[in-house]
Amino acid sequence: MNVNQQPHMATPYGQPQPGYQGYPQPGYGGDHVPSGYPAQYAPYNGPGSAYQQGPPQGTRGPPTSGAPPVSGAQNYSQFGQGENQNGPPPMGPLPSTQSSFPRPPHPTSQPSAFPAGPPPTSIPSQLPGVMQPQPPVSQPSPYHSGPPTTSTGFPPQVGAPPRPSFPGMQGPPMASQGPPMASQGPPMASQGPPMAQANHILPTQPGMPPGPINASLSGPPPQPGMQGYPPQQNGAFGQVRGPQPGYTGPYPGQPNYGAPPAAPASAPAAPKRLDPDSIPSPIQVIEDDKANKGSEPFTTGVRGQAPPLVTTKFQVKDQGNASPRYIRCTAYNMPCNSDMAKQSQVPLAAVIKPLAPLPPDETPPYLVDHGESGPIRCNRCKAYLCPYMQFSEGGRRFQCGFCNCVTEVPPNYFQHLDHTGKRVDCYDRPELSMGSYDFMTTVDYCKNNKFPQPPAFIFLIDVSYNAVKNGTVGIVCQELKTLLDYLPRENPDVESNIRVGFVTYNKVLHFYNVKASLAQPQMMVVSDVADMFVPLLDGFLVSVSESRVVIESLLDQIPEMFADTRETETVFGPVIQAGLEALKAADCAGKLFVFHSSLPIAEAPGKLKNREDKKLVGTDKEKTLFQPQVSFYNTLAKECVAQGCCVDLFLFPNQYVDVATLGVVPTSTGGSIYKYTYFQAPSDQERFLNDLRRDVQKQVGFDAVMRVRTSTGIRATDFFGAFYMSNTTDVELAGLDCDKTVTVEFRHDDKLSEETGALMQCAVLYTSCSGQRRLRIHNMAVNCCSQLADLYRNCETDTIINFFAKYAYRSVLSSPTKNVRDSLVNQCAQILACYRKNCASPSSAGQLILPECMKLLPVYLNCVLKSDVLQPGADVSLDDRAYLRQLVSTMDVAESHVFFYPHLLPLQKLDVESMALPMAVRDSEERLSRGGVYLLENGLNIFLWVGVSAQQELLQNIFGTPAFSQIDPNMTSLPALDNPFSKRLREIIESVRAQRSRYMKLMVVKQEDKLELIFKHFLVEDKSNSGGASYVDFLCHMHKEIRQLLS
Ligand SMILES: [Zn+2]
Repeated sequence: MNVNQQPHMATPYGQPQPGYQGYPQPGYGGDHVPSGYPAQYAPYNGPGSAYQQGPPQGTRGPPTSGAPPVSGAQNYSQFGQGENQNGPPPMGPLPSTQSSFPRPPHPTSQPSAFPAGPPPTSIPSQLPGVMQPQPPVSQPSPYHSGPPTTSTGFPPQVGAPPRPSFPGMQGPPMASQGPPMASQGPPMASQGPPMAQANHILPTQPGMPPGPINASLSGPPPQPGMQGYPPQQNGAFGQVRGPQPGYTGPYPGQPNYGAPPAAPASAPAAPKRLDPDSIPSPIQVIEDDKANKGSEPFTTGVRGQAPPLVTTKFQVKDQGNASPRYIRCTAYNMPCNSDMAKQSQVPLAAVIKPLAPLPPDETPPYLVDHGESGPIRCNRCKAYLCPYMQFSEGGRRFQCGFCNCVTEVPPNYFQHLDHTGKRVDCYDRPELSMGSYDFMTTVDYCKNNKFPQPPAFIFLIDVSYNAVKNGTVGIVCQELKTLLDYLPRENPDVESNIRVGFVTYNKVLHFYNVKASLAQPQMMVVSDVADMFVPLLDGFLVSVSESRVVIESLLDQIPEMFADTRETETVFGPVIQAGLEALKAADCAGKLFVFHSSLPIAEAPGKLKNREDKKLVGTDKEKTLFQPQVSFYNTLAKECVAQGCCVDLFLFPNQYVDVATLGVVPTSTGGSIYKYTYFQAPSDQERFLNDLRRDVQKQVGFDAVMRVRTSTGIRATDFFGAFYMSNTTDVELAGLDCDKTVTVEFRHDDKLSEETGALMQCAVLYTSCSGQRRLRIHNMAVNCCSQLADLYRNCETDTIINFFAKYAYRSVLSSPTKNVRDSLVNQCAQILACYRKNCASPSSAGQLILPECMKLLPVYLNCVLKSDVLQPGADVSLDDRAYLRQLVSTMDVAESHVFFYPHLLPLQKLDVESMALPMAVRDSEERLSRGGVYLLENGLNIFLWVGVSAQQELLQNIFGTPAFSQIDPNMTSLPALDNPFSKRLREIIESVRAQRSRYMKLMVVKQEDKLELIFKHFLVEDKSNSGGASYVDFLCHMHKEIRQLLS
């Protein structure tokens, strides 16, 4: 290898490089071009962003900050109206079944044949095609035990408390909002027929007088933070449980919560606590949903229909709304006005996973091409053509479902309407009949008005002493030799055109020239890390196939070169800067893969100090631990976003590395953080390599901008995820991969109508891995209601919990965790109190009445409250908390569900003859049998828990030994034994792993072994050793909170 020591290079910059111009970078050595450039890469700290420069046509328009969401300046907006030179749109064939879906009749009242008259200004009474308004109550539910709600006059809500917010976030803390629910008009019960069925009635407990539940709990009243519960012995719930009298649920031993409450009179002698079997069971709800919704495909044509739960396997048919794999909502029946929304406190949010992968039996989004003038859009709000646009005037115009503006149909897109007012080609065009599709875009949608270059991947490898010693340098280099053949591509038969580059670093950086014409790679050392630059342009980013020999030689040499290094210090900021500068120089977007091991204490921009201080945990200063310790990385992140530079960070720490700070750039650029604490090759290599392989190969879009448009009445007001926002509407993602979600919260800015519902359209403009500029469109319509009971009938608790977790995890940046927890409890209590007050039939105060679709809200909420971020045990490191906080922010609903409520399978009940899994059991120690073996999975870990008296045959089948004492607790994979049980179990583990975005390492936990403490942490229905309440105790606490709100 030729090593060219270049402590400070000047030569390559004698002439300005494309892309460098106008980027004020002192110290470049070359002449600095003073001004007059369009400043594509203007620093973000100026008044504008990279997206605002240039002439109006073909750029993304002026910044939208402060602009109203619907009108005014738009990003990537002013395209294609007027000329409308649409070529014949080449269309992918639609499945023939698409044309045969039953459609509601089209409205007949639409204006017809106005040759040049004024556009109709009123909202059509019905939306075209698929969006037939639903009657307010149409959801058959097995739980309904009362008469259907009638839509009789709901009293105007006055004096409803403002929406709560976390202290320090937006507005006063909830606690200061006075007595909620008071002075809100007459109670619903006085309005004629009872408002709603009591969907879930917690039976009054045996032995409990029909009074307050808490009255029968001994001990001091619960303290704030819920640490004052009476001590609870693990496993103390061990009453013999059988099917409960009066319950005929499909699962023995599980109560049927839809049934009328059990008669208190039949109560046996008085136990002091609730029987866990009598409170809502997650397993029961999951199994019921599987039974009720798992057999039929879920069709998206009916507005406001809640999809099956994330735990149910189902097929989706797109009939006009986005699949729940792309969008899940907290409520599928939104309140018509903000007063109702405030009163209920139910968050209105959508969890959006724009590039979600689909199972093989579902059709991926079609690619629609509207020709050279680009996708057809509403003239005013710029919404893209979708099933919510209503055509009129014989097909010459369409009215926007979002803003009602009427737009002329481009001549080349003209089509006649049928007798129902639908375009006759409606079902041949995804953009008129489907919830999700892609648009080809034009050059107008490209940054700087030119088509993007293919993206690049740059691998930046820490070669300091720690990284060499723990083996990661060798592992990464070895793996990359194979992995580079699996870079993402759109057509599996064509080579990926992603280019690659390589950097190694400790406290200096080494760049490598791997040009195909070289016999050997060349190293260039940059030791002046204060002003990072790329010392070579030609030969740094190369095509894998062209430079394969040189790259392999480099990857062979790197581990040898640094094998004897004594350098322990590392830099970090300059590493990202180096990758960023390389992408700038190549004028492309891309992804950096950084493999890093230690706190960057070497003298350099972004240098950090060890500020780990566990004494701050639980204090008002705890929030500082989640905040970055320097602002350097925030600034760097903005620059990365402007370039479309996404950063994925693989951490291999042996001590505190300040994840809160190192994670700023990844979490602002749509990147991921992977963390392998105390990495040891033998036990952790498999997990790391699987993560790396998936991360490199997965579908990803670059330089993405996401915009959510909504119909008049609501708007997107808050966003959660790994992105950057330079204004209030555009979510900028340097990278957006298929695992990432963006959660959007909506608030009312006007009234919604039950007739038209609430519409949203999520448009993501991105550069595909092949360098095409595309738009991914997802449309979603939900119902609107003027009755609270309808809202409470159509919520999705798993999505609400996903939202609450993200909200709370962000709030810890600005508020003490205790306040965050209290606010969550308060908001959920208000949600449930509002239901009790307005929707449930009158009953004794001693009964906790929960809406059917929210009956798991308390148990899941408790899991969020006692999670490591909000209530850590003594053994949870600050880095782990920062890591989990960032991880949860991009989780989809399936991931957050299993993360907060792990999946626990009793393997002794596994039937090897069947493909079905045994029914899961609840996450509580008392559910574990000493004679059993259990698999627990939470999306990050898999545990195999082995009871001390596990049957010998079971152990023999799994471990190849009948003796409990002979099981090696250090094994990370099960022996491949030649018996059906072993095969089936390993299949199950593999299939569980395949469902998750991160590889889960297997840990074997023997009962009564010291590792069991870790395992018990995931038994989330039990009291935790960090002070988190048990489910039973927390439910009592919630009940008390609700009763306080009601009294
Ligand atoms: Zn519009």
